[in-house]
Amino acid sequence: MTYAIRRALLSVSDKTGIVELAQALRQRQVELISSGGTARTLKEAGVEVTEVSAHTGAPEIMNGRVKTLHPKIHGGILARRGIDDATLEEQNIAPIDLVVVNLYPFSQTVAKPNCSLDDAIENIDIGGPTMVRAAAKNHKDVSIVVDPSDYQRLLAAMDGDGVDAGMRRDLAVKAFAHTAAYDDAIVNYLSALDDNDSAQPQPRIFNRQWHLHTALRYGENPHQQASFYADANAPSGTIGAARLIQGKPLSYNNLADADAAWTAALEFIMPACVIVKHANPCGIAVAADIGSAYEKAFSTDPTSAFGGIIAFNSDLDGETAAEILNNQFVEVIIAPKITPAAREALATKTNVRVLETGCAPDQLNNWELKTLSGGLLVQSADQARIHREELTVVTEKAPTDHEINDMIFAWPVVKMVKSNAIVFARDGQTMAIGAGQMSRVDSVRIAIRKAEDAGFDLRGSVMASDAFFPFPDAMLAGAEAGATAIIQPGGSMRDDEVITAANEVGVAMVTTGRRHFRH
Ligand code: 5GP
Repeated sequence: MTYAIRRALLSVSDKTGIVELAQALRQRQVELISSGGTARTLKEAGVEVTEVSAHTGAPEIMNGRVKTLHPKIHGGILARRGIDDATLEEQNIAPIDLVVVNLYPFSQTVAKPNCSLDDAIENIDIGGPTMVRAAAKNHKDVSIVVDPSDYQRLLAAMDGDGVDAGMRRDLAVKAFAHTAAYDDAIVNYLSALDDNDSAQPQPRIFNRQWHLHTALRYGENPHQQASFYADANAPSGTIGAARLIQGKPLSYNNLADADAAWTAALEFIMPACVIVKHANPCGIAVAADIGSAYEKAFSTDPTSAFGGIIAFNSDLDGETAAEILNNQFVEVIIAPKITPAAREALATKTNVRVLETGCAPDQLNNWELKTLSGGLLVQSADQARIHREELTVVTEKAPTDHEINDMIFAWPVVKMVKSNAIVFARDGQTMAIGAGQMSRVDSVRIAIRKAEDAGFDLRGSVMASDAFFPFPDAMLAGAEAGATAIIQPGGSMRDDEVITAANEVGVAMVTTGRRHFRH
């Protein structure tokens, strides 16, 4: 059913577009009621409006703490048309068909440096959410608008077939989401206060606005439900803000792998290519241009690269795009910019998903979430980067400059590989990757076997280990396979034993003092 809108209540903190909306409503013969500040704004613009206090006969009191909390307002919103009509008449309450409210800017207030607890508390809106929830509850008869960007849509519907039941329900869903997010922000603020009422730094994740980006067909497996929520303010250079240029819709696994590939590519300054399969890189390389980087990354493990997700840290050119399609089956290609020539080349394979991310900020300020039964783990993303000066040579033999360069390349790679992670690298290219084993020595063995399969000789390579060697065995296996320099965090109880063994076989070893588990 569609009801005509005869009376509207307008009470907004964000006054964007409110005058224009009010004027448009008046042109459509809608009677307007407004709280103090909103009524003032409207009157100044020459719009005819009744103040809430005049409508209810009760003044706004306590500096605005009580403005609209009155049976004449809430009865008018909550009355079920056709059921409560007699009560409305008895109590002399006029029905309200449209509620336009947005709330005190709580999040913006507490985000200000030096926001006092008193300021924060005064910015907890009470009457606003009460009206929003009342109108959303009674959406069968009432329209509730909480977002200025819906004003046009509302007027268009009024001028057409009226605000129908479907639209009123949509608006109600948005309204309840709005008040839920609002209360969340209050909970986060208050729960972060210490004994002196000072706010402790909080993960910025909770006061962000997440919007449903894509309802996914399914999750990691077809029997799992899934959706992709994007940060409403996702900056350029993130998967949340990326544009799908072509291809089938992205799946849950595509999105997860695309993010892994893209964030890995951003670790490098030189043109870099990252190929990901099942959340692990199966080839990473840097070179003078991205075409060469792709060739090197692909050669690490051509078997695994089949059906891979490929990310570049710089613009994708036509030649490289054509080379990829020539070479392999690819699920997703990601780059900051897909040049016109690359678009043309890729358009021949309409199934390939192509994501253009835009330029990335210097550092993506990501938080990572993991749910567990009855809880939520939150951590800042592992964005630690290594600098040459931080390496400590712990062996008699010092690494050569060339080995140091390769270790500086291998270190961010090993960070992106699931633990226990082992990476062999040479000349800015991964030679072999051992991922996700429960023992470190197994990761080394797997990497060596994969290098053999790909026809690589590991002599003269460097080996990176994401965490310390608990025993010398994994380090020795790497040295025996041909690694001449090893990079690892150090910090094992048996560091001395490991270093002695490294000296005995004549390899150079550096420690970083920082481990990079990834699970
Ligand atoms: P105005 O600028 O019109 O005076 O106030 C608009 C704001 O007041 C809106 O953000 C609305 O949510 C809020 N508001 C409306 N009624 C009440 C009330 O009874 N108590 C409080 N604390 N806020 C209200």
